[in-house]
Amino acid sequence: MTRTGGAGQARTIAHWSDNKTFTGTSENTAPVTNPATGAITGQVALASVEDSRAVIDAAAAAFPAWRDTSLAKRTAIIFKFRELLNERKGELAEIITSEHGKVVSDALGEVSRGQEVVEFACGIAHLLKGGMTENASTNVDVHSIRQPVGVVGIISPFNFPAMVPMWFFPVAIAAGNTVILKPSEKDPTAAIWMAELWAEAGLPAGVFNVLQGDKTAVDELLTNRAVKAISFVGSTPIAEYVYATGTAHGKRVQALGGAKNHAIVLPDADLDLAADAMVNAGFGSAGERCMAISALVAVGDIADELVSKIADRTKTLKIGDGTRDSDMGPLVTKVHRDRVASYIDAGEAQGATIVVDGRGVDADGAADGFWLGPTLIDNVSTDMSVYTDEIFGPVLSVVRVDSYEEALELINSGPFGNGTAIFTNDGGAARRFQNEVEVGMVGINVPIPVPTAYYSFGGWKNSLFGDTHAHGTEGVHFFTRGKVVTSRWLDPSHGGINLGFPQND
Ligand code: NAD
Repeated sequence: MTRTGGAGQARTIAHWSDNKTFTGTSENTAPVTNPATGAITGQVALASVEDSRAVIDAAAAAFPAWRDTSLAKRTAIIFKFRELLNERKGELAEIITSEHGKVVSDALGEVSRGQEVVEFACGIAHLLKGGMTENASTNVDVHSIRQPVGVVGIISPFNFPAMVPMWFFPVAIAAGNTVILKPSEKDPTAAIWMAELWAEAGLPAGVFNVLQGDKTAVDELLTNRAVKAISFVGSTPIAEYVYATGTAHGKRVQALGGAKNHAIVLPDADLDLAADAMVNAGFGSAGERCMAISALVAVGDIADELVSKIADRTKTLKIGDGTRDSDMGPLVTKVHRDRVASYIDAGEAQGATIVVDGRGVDADGAADGFWLGPTLIDNVSTDMSVYTDEIFGPVLSVVRVDSYEEALELINSGPFGNGTAIFTNDGGAARRFQNEVEVGMVGINVPIPVPTAYYSFGGWKNSLFGDTHAHGTEGVHFFTRGKVVTSRWLDPSHGGINLGFPQND
């Protein structure tokens, strides 16, 4: 399905506009690599301002007809997209693995979580129902409706090239908007595959478009008057910039940023369950998940036993090419791999204990792959960069504290508030934690508490700029505007001039 060159030939990954490939005029490109081999497998187009405007124009031209397409017809197309996706998700998973590096089973999990939002969007008719009040004033009725906002831009990160865009576009399209997806330059092919699937599902030209590019494309989306809303997901500095720039240009913006997720393990927890969870949440997808656990806060005298259980499990993980029988794949680029490794070096130099060291990992894959094994670091203190910074790699730091209060204070005083978890068998402690913790998504004996599609996904503090979280009813609100209609049908008894403020009678 994807446009590929022959063996040895670099593919060009272009834009998608009006239901066809659009090459644009810019000659700028960026290399796309297979992280498991280190080989350059394609060149992604980097849009110029003119290319970006052409795609925005196509989306704007398609909007009037799409917003007036009946809900029955819109949902039939979304349902068809869901069926095609469900049948062919294996193809998409393979594309994700080839450009991101995560193992195929994990890529399939990502697609399935995105598909949940497509399924949620199939019920858009129910979600768009307004309220109606008869006889609010004598012979006057009032009703509310929600209408699409227009052209929306979705700017997504490298770590979930299918799921993160699917947090937004099914709901946006179902609600009657037209969409421009600007994927990460690191793994841009999944977006094109999904665009082709939309066309096959019968989506009219111009409703779903893909704009490949970097800051130039993003800036045009943020400033172009035709774009009415922006959903961004990425690192905190860029999220802050996107929010400030987009809102200064009159747009609705939800900008989801970075994370540094803590898991607290209380002394009464089931330590085997907690150790399993720490390995899964710390090292799954090589730690390149915004909901990964990167700081384990061990409370009281359980720390030695817990660290030993985690270390034993970590040593059994198979690191290798995601298309083989591996538990964990490579990191996304060599630059990122080296950056993550430099945090391990810094932690060691600052006096932390490297319990399991991924730096010299012997991976089942090509020598030039971007390998870094799972790394467990104990006795981390809060002034070390391995603790303070978002690392976004397979590095789990252990911070030892004496009390629940100390653990809670660590989380609440940090700059991020994306996800967190507590492991305990004490219902009262868990209930207190869910009430007191300043984080948007909380797990109780669940390490990666990603909400289901009918709830909304989003963090607090520097993990989200804006008021609205992704998907669920908040997503429907973000992609629609409310309107209230007050109506009266011809009734001669209510005629006449009255300059006073309307009052209900
Ligand atoms: P990133 O911020 O580098 O890139 C995100 C998007 O912004 C990409 O499409 C990129 O092309 C664009 N971009 C990059 N630099 C830009 C600039 N200077 N101006 C305008 N646009 C720019 O993020 P990434 O490395 O692709 O993804 C990892 C980050 O995303 C991590 O920080 C992770 O926590 C975060 N993330 C957050 C969530 C969440 O739900 N909060 C989910 C997934 C990822």
